[in-house]
Amino acid sequence: MSEQSEPRPEDADSLTLLLVAEDPLSARRIREMLERREGEGSRFSITSVPRVEDALVRLQHGGFDVMLLDHSVDEAHGLDSLQRARVAARAVPVVVLTYQRDEDFALEAVRTGAQDYLAKGEVTPALLARTLLHAVERHRMMRELTQAQQRQHFLASHDALTKLPNRYSFLASLRGLLAEAERRREEVAVLFFDLDGFKRINDSLGHAAGDELLGDVAGRLRRLIGKRDLVARLGGDEFVAALPAVRDPQRPLELAETIRAAIEKPYYLNGLECWVSTSIGISRHPRDGRDADALIRCADAAMYQAKGAGKNQIREFDEQMNESAQERFDLVNGLRDAIHSGLLALMFQPQVDIQREELVAAETLVRWHHPTRGAISPTEFIPVAEETGLMVPLGEWVLRTACATAASWRAVPGARVAVNISGRQLEQPDFSSRVQRILEETGLPRERLEIELTESLAASDGALAVLERLRELGIRTAIDDFGTGYSSLTRLRRLPVDTLKIDRSFVHGVSLNDPDAVILESMIRIASGLGLEVVAEGVETLEEMDALRALGCTLMQGYLFSKPLPKIDFEAEVGREDAEWRMPLDRPEAWLPLGERAAEPEPGPDDEGNLPAVRNLGSRPRHG
Ligand code: C2E
Ligand code: CA
Ligand code: CA
Repeated sequence: MSEQSEPRPEDADSLTLLLVAEDPLSARRIREMLERREGEGSRFSITSVPRVEDALVRLQHGGFDVMLLDHSVDEAHGLDSLQRARVAARAVPVVVLTYQRDEDFALEAVRTGAQDYLAKGEVTPALLARTLLHAVERHRMMRELTQAQQRQHFLASHDALTKLPNRYSFLASLRGLLAEAERRREEVAVLFFDLDGFKRINDSLGHAAGDELLGDVAGRLRRLIGKRDLVARLGGDEFVAALPAVRDPQRPLELAETIRAAIEKPYYLNGLECWVSTSIGISRHPRDGRDADALIRCADAAMYQAKGAGKNQIREFDEQMNESAQERFDLVNGLRDAIHSGLLALMFQPQVDIQREELVAAETLVRWHHPTRGAISPTEFIPVAEETGLMVPLGEWVLRTACATAASWRAVPGARVAVNISGRQLEQPDFSSRVQRILEETGLPRERLEIELTESLAASDGALAVLERLRELGIRTAIDDFGTGYSSLTRLRRLPVDTLKIDRSFVHGVSLNDPDAVILESMIRIASGLGLEVVAEGVETLEEMDALRALGCTLMQGYLFSKPLPKIDFEAEVGREDAEWRMPLDRPEAWLPLGERAAEPEPGPDDEGNLPAVRNLGSRPRHG
């Protein structure tokens, strides 16, 4: 056995060859053939060993481009050694040298993974070199192809953002896992996670921060989920895990609790400390279902219960939840129909200037008159619309109908109409052109439309450009629910908005000698200082009204003046000489006690689904 040169993989022009030849004569001949080819392309640096075993040891250290196996080696166990060489062949290509008539062996060699073979009697130096070079090249191409296929498979089965398996590969793995569990009569638990407050982060810090957060959440999940367990991102802020072979029924709950606690720890995004939490639902095979879809559905329903119970909680599935899952399903389908079959209606709630005793605007609030459930609150169905892609058509219908209605107001021809806009609408690249088109179609003068965006939405990354564009178009904008979001006043100052609507939680219960009124006072002062109009929302009592007026806020909206009214009542009401906001406000004794007013239900449709023609606001004594 000879060993004259070490592999030199770093030499680009030189190929490192591992020669396996038991017969030293044969080894020398091969060496001579390859080394004598001066000036003919690639050179070979050759290491030769007598047996396949030695070769395998060598290969473990790497550094070889190709292996040449002289078949006189280990004659008795020819194929056996070849099998072992095959292990090596994954790392380097193998070329086999056979005796002239041993075609069968040669073919078998190729079948077991060798790149090529040469018959000894026919070998010339050029042919040998070429065969080795081609083997190396083919092997390299095969490897690249395999890697590309693996990459493609990874991309198709994983979520690009978090690198976790995606919905499809999770379903496939879960099915496999369930089949195994059925065979072994084992239990499987499925955990469904949905982040609480993710939308708020996305809206206020931007999508890049949202993506980073999802990556962090995925990292925490991956760390806590066991090696045999599955974890995947279903999409959006939804994740799912499956635990096979659950022996201790407490384990899924304990793991869920560990994860819940880990997710609520702070995140650092854009140098800011942020928080989210997660609502978790658990379902179990075989108790809640035997197939993957059923288990995910049950865990999802349990997750919804956890959300409903105040978020950041864990719930196990139980039968009753199936009903609420069904209800939600019906809600989505019903809403889809409602948009098309005219079951949605708009209400208008006056915004009044108490100084000048006049109506300045009306906010549009959408209502859904469900055929069996009665009136459904927008706080219930707007989030469903946002999650299901129905928000854009719904929002567009609201906007168009509101503009058309306001364009037809005779009693208050100059009053503005305020329309709530969802983040889903704002995300549309052509949102402002759509608004512009609706104004043209309905003939409403642009200055009479006001777009309301919630505070966190207005402070989001994408909103600034839209707000600027709306301002260019001469359309007013308002920040809704002000005080409930995260935006700083400095950030607000840069936003091109016209109105600030103070959230009703700040208004509720405020009175002239209330120490909490300082917050309200500074909000009003700062907003006025920024040149913004300030509207107080949810004004219900005379005390609140007086306090607001004393603090310098004279634009108000709330039950004290009027509940939201159907279109037809609104027009009747605003046309009246003695409309309630025109009453001298210094005569509160003319007003009924609040209790009666609050108990008054909002008008709904009659048996045929028609909205009442005239709503009786006159249930309390009119002044006059
Ligand atoms: P919001 O924009 O803050 O609307 C004001 C809500 O406060 C309305 O509830 C209104 O009926 C209620 N409200 C008015 N005055 C008073 C008062 O004196 N006291 C109390 N306690 N509440 C008062 P509503 O109509 O149930 O709407 C709830 C939310 O649903 C709205 O909050 C808004 O965020 C959303 N929404 C309603 N219509 C639409 C719409 O067309 N599009 C979008 N995107 N969201 C809408
Ligand atoms: Ca609003
Ligand atoms: Ca509001």
